[in-house]
Amino acid sequence: MTKEPINARGTFTPLGVSRSSDPVARAVSESLKRYAVMADLKEQADRALQDWSSAEAGTVVHCTAAAITLAVAACMTGTDAALVRSLPQPTGGPNKVLLPAPHEVNYGHPVSQAVRLAGAKPRLVGNEAACSLEELAEALDGDNICALLLVHSRLVRGVTPPLNAMISLAKARSIPVVLDGAAQDFKISELIALEPDLLLISGQKYLASPTAGLLVGKRALVEAVRAQEAGIGRGMKASKEAIAGVLAALKERQKLDMSDWARAKAEKLTAFLARANRLPGVTASSVADPTGLPFERACLTLDRDAVPIIAALKDSDPPIWVMEDRAARGALVLESVMLTAEEEDIILSRLAHLMRSD
Ligand SMILES: *Cc1c(COP(=O)(O)O)cnc(C)c1O
Repeated sequence: MTKEPINARGTFTPLGVSRSSDPVARAVSESLKRYAVMADLKEQADRALQDWSSAEAGTVVHCTAAAITLAVAACMTGTDAALVRSLPQPTGGPNKVLLPAPHEVNYGHPVSQAVRLAGAKPRLVGNEAACSLEELAEALDGDNICALLLVHSRLVRGVTPPLNAMISLAKARSIPVVLDGAAQDFKISELIALEPDLLLISGQKYLASPTAGLLVGKRALVEAVRAQEAGIGRGMKASKEAIAGVLAALKERQKLDMSDWARAKAEKLTAFLARANRLPGVTASSVADPTGLPFERACLTLDRDAVPIIAALKDSDPPIWVMEDRAARGALVLESVMLTAEEEDIILSRLAHLMRSD
C-alpha cells in the first residue's frame, strides 16, 4: 500500500473519496465470500432506499456518473426491451436533455458527456454565467425533450433560479426531472421534497459506502433504469459487495442523530480554528457550504501567496491535500469534519513549520 494521504479536500475522487466505517467494511468483506441472488439483493436495496429517502423506489448502479447516463436512458426507453437494446442508437423518440448552462459541471468529465453516453443530446440553456427562468421555460417548450437535468453541487458556478422553480416548469410540461445531488446525501429529505422524478446520490461520498450510484424517485423510472441492465447498463452495474456496503451504510446513517453529529462537528471545527489562529501569518475563520450541507469548513487566510504553501503541503510526508478554490485569494480551505485528531495535529504542525520557514 502507498502511504495514506491526509485528505482535507472533501469527498474528492482522486483521493479515494471517503473512509468507510468498520461495520460497512465488514459487510463488504462478508459479501465477497458469498454467493447472492442478485435480484433479491436489489429488492432489499430498493426497500432500504425507499425507507431512507421516502421516495417511491430506489436502485443502485455503479456510481453517480453511471446513474446520470442510465437516468437519461430510462427517460428515453422506459421499460421497452427493444428500445433498451437499441441504445445508444437513436430510439426515434425524444432525445434532448436540457441543462441550465451553469449546471454543466465537471466532476472529472463534463456532466454533458454522461448524457451523450446514453445516445441523448445535451442542450445547454442560457450561458455559463446565468440561466433565467424565462430562458428555461422557452427551451422546455421546444420539441423532442426527454428530460431536464439539474445539478445541486458546490461545483455549480453562475446564477440559476431556485431548484423548485425550475422543477415546477418541467412538471407543468410533464417533462421528467433528473436531479444530480451526488454529495447531498445529508439533504435527502429536502431534495426529495422537491419531487424530482429521479434523484441521484453517490454512495461513496458522505455516506461512505463502497463506490455506488443511488437512484431514488418515481417507481416507473426506477424500473426503467433497472431495465438498462439488459442494455447499456451492463457495464455500469453495482456489484454485490457495493450493494452490501450501501445497505450497511444506510443502516448506520439512519441510526445517526444528525443534530448531535452537527454539534460535535461544529465544536471540532471551532477548536481547530482556534489553534490555526495561533499560527504565524494565519487568520482562520469558518465558511458555510454553498449548498447548505450541515457543516462548515476552515478557511485559513495567509499573509503571503497560498499557492506555494499548498504545493509544499502536498509534498509533505504524509501528503496533505486541501481545497484550492480560494488559493488566488491567498487562502486554504480545509474540509476538516472527517479528519482524525491526529491528522489535525499533523496539518497544524506542518503548516506552522512552513509559515515559519520563509
Ligand atoms: C462526484 C460527483 C459526480 C460523480 O459521482 P461518481 O459517483 O463519482 O460517479 C457527479 N456529479 C456531481 C455533482 C458530483 O459531485
